[in-house]
Amino acid sequence: MDYEQMLQAKKRELEEVIQKKRDLMMIPITETVDELSMYDQHPADLGSEMYEREKDAGLLEFYELELEKLNDAIDHYKKGEYGICEVCGKSIEKERLSRLLNTTLCAQCARDQVRENEHPAQYDLINAGQMSDEGETFQVAGYDFFEDGDGSSSS
Ligand SMILES: [Zn+2]
Repeated sequence: MDYEQMLQAKKRELEEVIQKKRDLMMIPITETVDELSMYDQHPADLGSEMYEREKDAGLLEFYELELEKLNDAIDHYKKGEYGICEVCGKSIEKERLSRLLNTTLCAQCARDQVRENEHPAQYDLINAGQMSDEGETFQVAGYDFFEDGDGSSSS
């Protein structure tokens, strides 16, 4: 499996999405509202258009952050450090890498980081409450639960 190709493909994909969003946001808001009011004179149009814009702006920010992480991963790859955990220096699990292309942490360190950033007691409570009856799926569910919040690779 060629990770660089996968990373570059993902990068192109993201850049395309970002470009489209930017193009959309370049259109003056009054223009799009004018267009809408040809069909519907409702005064709420500006409000809902503003809301859409804000949502787009938030999404754009998210995509740009993802692209940054992806560029980091490509840098790592070029330096021959791709797939190496930033924290402990061990190889990142293959299964994990294929799901989270731009991760820089192994599963164990990602879990540790989540525990440091969040309140451990809270996590334990959620786990106990949600998964006590799951039996054998506990391992899988617990693993996913502690991912570093990057759901972009779930398809
Ligand atoms: Zn690690």
